[in-house]
Amino acid sequence: MKAIRVHKPGGPEVLSYEDVPEPEPNPNEALVEIKAIGLNFIDTYHRTGLYKAAPPFTPGVEAAGTVSAVGSDVSEVEVGDPVAYALSLGTYAERAAVPAWQLVKLPPDVDFKTGAAIMVQGMTAHYLTRSSYPLAPGRTALVHAAAGGVGLLLVQMAKMCGARVIGTVSTEEKAQLAGWAGADEVILYTEKDFESEVQRLTDGAGVEVVYDSVGQTTFEKSMNCLKPRGYLVLFGQASGPVAPFDPQILNAKGSLFLTRPSLGHYAASREELLERAGEVLKWVSSGDLKVRIDRTFPLSEASDSHRALEGRKTAGKVLLLP
Ligand code: NDP
Repeated sequence: MKAIRVHKPGGPEVLSYEDVPEPEPNPNEALVEIKAIGLNFIDTYHRTGLYKAAPPFTPGVEAAGTVSAVGSDVSEVEVGDPVAYALSLGTYAERAAVPAWQLVKLPPDVDFKTGAAIMVQGMTAHYLTRSSYPLAPGRTALVHAAAGGVGLLLVQMAKMCGARVIGTVSTEEKAQLAGWAGADEVILYTEKDFESEVQRLTDGAGVEVVYDSVGQTTFEKSMNCLKPRGYLVLFGQASGPVAPFDPQILNAKGSLFLTRPSLGHYAASREELLERAGEVLKWVSSGDLKVRIDRTFPLSEASDSHRALEGRKTAGKVLLLP
């Protein structure tokens, strides 16, 4: 079968489209015939070596497809089930052997493309707004990269909680999309200083929470946007890793909280996974949550998809099709 392989860390050009041996499921695994693959910023961290994956490896952590075989101990799914999954490395391929506990059955009205678009970013937006810092009416959230894959879903889910949402984006076109998702105010952080804009929009009070996935270029000012005892939820580093810092700064800026969460810890058991993914899929089915697929690439053109994502050219979800 065909798959993308990474033999050494590097730029998009190290994503090599190759023939690889067929995967064989272990007793607790299912074989998935992959129909659509979700692209995530995390894939670029694996590719560059920022997140560790031992080469040679097949990147990708999100896909949807049909179960085509099951190991002897598998009870969670059956052959023929349409499924989607997150956080099992090796989805940039035509088939993958996946731990069965990670597979979520797709409802009949959710197709493979939508399923592959929603697992990582949907569950991430869910745990950020429900668990890392639970939003509620009367609270204001600042969401960076609000027109990104996670961003558009995060804005919608924050609004579902009744919160006020201020988004940041790099272009006017992305500002329109953040507004479409429900953001109350949008700041072009490439043109205006987002810290002073947030102070202006909140009459100097600041916000209860900043969801920051940009990292290096936003981290310090994100802290300055918070009310005393506010929460900085640093969940990514699209602009680069944040430098080590002195925790005393959290005291000086108002007894702030800092957390650096990861989806793996918020979908850690089958029960939690089914609960979180189930709620997200229910909202997709009912139309309460809109999924914007920005563009698709053939799997063989994975390098171009990474260039688009890292070049800030995308808004919403990008898919690879095997
Ligand atoms: P996005 O679609 O959000 O793409 C990244 C966006 O970040 C860009 O579109 C861009 O938006 C913004 N950005 C700002 N500065 C830069 C820069 N220097 N280079 C590139 N992009 C930049 O990606 P995802 O939705 O896949 O992921 C968003 C973030 O969420 C990532 O940091 C990812 O690691 C994190 N994540 C964390 C998870 C967790 O559990 N901790 C799980 C899933 C994702 P703009 O042009 O508007 O500035």
